[in-house]
Amino acid sequence: MAEILATNAASVEATLGAEIPWQQAMKGAIRSGRQLCHELQIDADEVSLTAERDFSVFVPWEYANRMRVGEPADPLLRQVLARVAETQPDPLGKTDPVGDLAAQTSPGLLQKYNGRALLIATGACAVHCRYCFRRHYPYSTAPKGFEGWQRALDAIAADDTLSEVILSGGDPLTLTNSSLGGLLEGINGIAHVRRLRIHTRLPVVIPQRVDQGLLECLRSARPAVYFVLHFNHAQELDEATCRALRRLRSVGTTLLNQAVLLRGVNDSFQALSDLCLQLSDQHVLPYYLHQLDPVLGARHFEVSDGEARELICRLREHLPGYAVPRLVREVAGNSSKTVLA
Ligand SMILES: *Cc1c(COP(=O)(O)O)cnc(C)c1O
Ligand code: SF4
Repeated sequence: MAEILATNAASVEATLGAEIPWQQAMKGAIRSGRQLCHELQIDADEVSLTAERDFSVFVPWEYANRMRVGEPADPLLRQVLARVAETQPDPLGKTDPVGDLAAQTSPGLLQKYNGRALLIATGACAVHCRYCFRRHYPYSTAPKGFEGWQRALDAIAADDTLSEVILSGGDPLTLTNSSLGGLLEGINGIAHVRRLRIHTRLPVVIPQRVDQGLLECLRSARPAVYFVLHFNHAQELDEATCRALRRLRSVGTTLLNQAVLLRGVNDSFQALSDLCLQLSDQHVLPYYLHQLDPVLGARHFEVSDGEARELICRLREHLPGYAVPRLVREVAGNSSKTVLA
């Protein structure tokens, strides 16, 4: 079996129990495909600087450390390395593949479905996923800071059919605890909001983000808190990540996972079965398996609907019902995600 990277100073510190603060981990992230290939001792032939210019490379060491050395097909590497395939012509590729802009009810607030409104709380992420459906989103137009959010909060307060607020982005956990605390306070004050959902990949990529300050924020939330995490492969679950998940559960939050079905990452029965069972072992329920959105630059990750349905059928034959995610596609303009299997 190939050796796992885990050779840099940060990981040595982590194994000694002294994790570097999450903000420092963000600052120290790898920002070049060539460097990543060099660290992993693989050829950089597939790296595309054009693709990097279009959507920059951003990979925290905590995540890179779980990749296999000398393995160009590593499923974690595949998710973050800007490759030549991204620059191939794709006439059907879109910059707004799921109709986000048409769903805006106030700056940064999207409402597509009954009872739920989604706030683009920030444009920043702690990893850049090459298949991201918001890789072309005009984040500069999203509200920033409490003043920016206030209009969105006013809009939520004015509509008592909204019982759920979803914090998304970008990644809402890139906000500091004090910003997040201010936002939660605003949401706490809206009596008809009964559930708060947080869509995040931070516990996956920089697990020390789940710090005491965050737990205190979560404890102060009045609505029921649901996390929708984003693990795509079992190799993403390591000791530090599992610890972060335990911490999130310790304050009474419910943990769900949404994954994206990705060619060359998790498009096999074995990969999906390992992912779903290992998540279930950590009390994380596989919620959705998304079909890739037709975002420009990501077509090479596509898996056909027929193949996707077959994978889900096999999972259903082998796994407990609660461990099998719903296979969905987001169709712009529809009143819910479209369930394929
Ligand atoms: C996906 C999404 C939701 C959540 O949908 P669920 O099916 O409830 O998980 C809500 N709002 C927007 C804008 C979404 O894209
Ligand atoms: S963390 Fe989420 S929003 Fe950010 S790049 Fe990845 S998929 Fe996109």
